Formats: sequence, structure tokens, C-alpha cells
Amino acid sequence: MMRGRGNSVHCGCFVLLSYSSRCLIFWCEIWLLLEELGDGIASGISFPTQLCSLLLLLSRQISSVSQCKDWEIISQFRGLPRVRIFLWLCYRGSILANGERQRRHLTEDPSCIICGAVNDDVSHVLRECFVARSLESRLVKTERLDDFLRMECRKWLILNLQQPNYFPVHGIDWDVLFGSLLWCLWLKRNTFVFESAELGSDNTFQCGYRLMEESLRARQLVRRGRLAIIS
Ligand SMILES: [Zn+2]
Repeated sequence: MMRGRGNSVHCGCFVLLSYSSRCLIFWCEIWLLLEELGDGIASGISFPTQLCSLLLLLSRQISSVSQCKDWEIISQFRGLPRVRIFLWLCYRGSILANGERQRRHLTEDPSCIICGAVNDDVSHVLRECFVARSLESRLVKTERLDDFLRMECRKWLILNLQQPNYFPVHGIDWDVLFGSLLWCLWLKRNTFVFESAELGSDNTFQCGYRLMEESLRARQLVRRGRLAIIS
């Protein structure tokens, strides 16, 4: 009993210290900027410029706290680790769709190679291209389909992982199925681009469903100690 209470106290102290140190850094940055603001006014740097810097810093801090929370949700994804990393890349907008490739000066054409849409970004790859649309009409509640397609992409990813009953017709293990389907969509696109495979047969759902089942089975085996590594 005492040991359990000791662990709780240690855990509480750790959380409090982590939170305090983050707050301390945040307020130190604000303090330094306010100091700079005073010097800036004395040396003739305009007040609006300094104020903009302060607001920018504040927005960055708020954004980084929000990203930390979202990363915690993605890091708890119950599927395969490679899919978890893929979801994080999607969240960051870093998958190499043509829009991102153009931003990195790897191509001049940001359009979708499958349907010709003008901007091939994460949202297009995962939910707007016709390959993805054929899945959504089968799996998402009709009354929320519009919301599913138009919601801001990061919010959409997190909501699907965090509230598995919100969008799908059947919410059981939706978080794992959702991640697995996105992974299979990405694989299918890559196979089409790099291996000139046909898009005709719609096997993405079967691929995602099988991956979900295997992920959950592997997870159970790991819990029982029969499988050390899944990747
Ligand atoms: Zn497309």
C-alpha cells in the first residue's frame, strides 16, 4: 500500500515538475521579449513590430502545446508502428504527394497523377481522390459524410483516432481500421505510380481490414508475451 502511494507521489511530482518547467521556459521567453520590447522602444524599434513578435511567440507556444497533445493521441495508435509513423507524417503534411514534392522543388507539377486534381495534398490523397471516395461512401455515416470531407485535415485525423464512433457506421476498432485504410490507400497510390499497377480492382478495403485484424492479433500476442517485436 505504502509503495503504491509512494509511486503515485513520485508520478505526481514528475508531472508537476514537467509542467512547471514548461511553464517556466514559456514565461522566461515572454519576460525576455518584454525586456526586448522596452529596449526596442528606447532604441526606436516600432512598438507594433515588437507587439507582433510577442503575438507570434504566443501563437507558436499555443500551437506547440496543441501538437504535443495530438502526438500523444497518435502515439497511442493501436495498429502497426509503421502506420503510426505514417499517421504522424500525414498530420504534419509531410507525405510526398505531388503538392509537397513541388514545395520541396522535386517537381513542377502539384496535380494528382491519378485524377488530375490541381493540388495533390494530404487531404486529397486520403479523402478526396476518387480512390478514397469509394471507401467513404461505404463506411461513413451519411449525415456526417460532408463533415468528414470538409473538416480541417489535422482535426479530422485526430477526431477519427480519438472518437471512433463519430464518423463510421460501425465504430468497433475504427481507429485501427481508419489508420490501416489510410496506409493501404497510400500503398495503392505508390504501386500505381511506381509499378504502373491497375487501380481497377477495389481491394483497398480488404487490405485495410486484413491489416487491422493482423495488428490486433499481434497486439494480443505481445500482451501474452509470445511475440517480442511487431513492426
Ligand atoms: Zn486524385
